[in-house]
Amino acid sequence: MKIEAILGDITKQKVDAIVNAANSALAGGGGVDGAIHRAAGAEQMHAACAKLGGCPTGDAKPTPGFRLPAKWVIHTVGPRYRDGQHGEPEALASCYRRSIEVAEELGAASIAFPAISTGIYGYPLEEAAHIAVGTLREVRSSIVQLARLVAFDQYTLSLYLAELGI
Ligand code: ADP
Repeated sequence: MKIEAILGDITKQKVDAIVNAANSALAGGGGVDGAIHRAAGAEQMHAACAKLGGCPTGDAKPTPGFRLPAKWVIHTVGPRYRDGQHGEPEALASCYRRSIEVAEELGAASIAFPAISTGIYGYPLEEAAHIAVGTLREVRSSIVQLARLVAFDQYTLSLYLAELGI
């Protein structure tokens, strides 16, 4: 699986699946979640999410992408950061792993990730970038060929590139 990092808007990515940094109620919200719901079509996305019955932290569940260029949205729930001593690293790594597993179940060859938990959930960016790249590097998949890390700002991109050794 190839891993790449770009600066961009996740809602614009032409990949098979994009990942949403959702909340456990899958109720929609602010940040990237709100942007994905709006771009997909809020009403349809809300209805599709309501059928999933929520999602535990560290897990992932799919819906169609509706009006998005991506065919699927994989909703994953990142940890709220407290002090790093309450299972946050494991939960964040699990988000990346479970999202890839769901992508495989969907037959998605390409997937794009936002920087899960680094906004409202307060995960330190440097540690989150390290976990994102480290976890994806361990993935062996014959189905998912490309994992794209989409940074919403230049600093996040620079962290990804450093982790990737680019
Ligand atoms: P969380 O609740 O998991 O912290 P947020 O949505 O608050 O989720 O933020 C996660 C990350 O997504 C942040 O780094 C934020 O800058 C980024 N982000 C927000 N909007 C977009 C977007 N349209 N495309 C890509 N990344 C985005």
